[in-house]
Amino acid sequence: MSPTVRMLVNLAIAGVILGAVLWRLDINGWPSLLWVGAMIMTIIIRTPYQAETEKNVITDRPGMTTERILLFLVSLGTAILPLVHLLTGVFSFANYRLPDIFPIVAGLALIPAYYMFWRSHADLGKNWSVTLEVREGHGLITEGVYKYIRHPMYTSLMVVFFAQPFFVQNWIAGVAGPVAFLLLYLVRVGNEEAMMRAQFGAEYDAYCARSGRLLPRFRSASQA
Ligand code: SAH
Repeated sequence: MSPTVRMLVNLAIAGVILGAVLWRLDINGWPSLLWVGAMIMTIIIRTPYQAETEKNVITDRPGMTTERILLFLVSLGTAILPLVHLLTGVFSFANYRLPDIFPIVAGLALIPAYYMFWRSHADLGKNWSVTLEVREGHGLITEGVYKYIRHPMYTSLMVVFFAQPFFVQNWIAGVAGPVAFLLLYLVRVGNEEAMMRAQFGAEYDAYCARSGRLLPRFRSASQA
């Protein structure tokens, strides 16, 4: 599928979802619009880079079964459950209502988060992938947002998915997002770093010594 067609298809799906959420806006409350807005931002930023990685020749793909299970749980928690709830109200018994200031602050936090999400895709380029993989000609990126942080994409997604319970105010459909993503992160980050270490060796160790996982490292690494 060409990148343009893919983007149009994704945006059409997002448009239908937006329409459906708007239709039930009085039931779900205005913060639900921020949830749809976030989903549309994710699609707009990610789709062009997804097309770019399609021709990669994969040379290593560790832990695919674990990866598949985790990605399914993340799709469930961050897309399927909130969507089903917003469209049907099936989990309404587990709703809670927060003062507007909460979704407003969470919405503002999305601005730097999406900036970092976009920069991390731009900096990783062809080296990005949805699941863990090493590919032909894989380069170790240590510049741009990767200069100080090893996992800026996960940092940005952490903000996006931890914002979800403020937009979808429901103990099941809202809270499932951060729970699922945290699980993916906790299981994956060690595997990803082991994979990168196996591929890049000392170069990766040196990179780890001067960078932080989710946030920049504040203490000097010169003694390491
Ligand atoms: N963990 C990173 C990247 C997520 S995408 C982040 O949060 O920003 C996952 C893929 O990116 C992995 O399969 C790995 O192949 C690749 N990757 C991760 N860090 C990289 C780096 N510094 N340079 C090149 N590729 C990297």
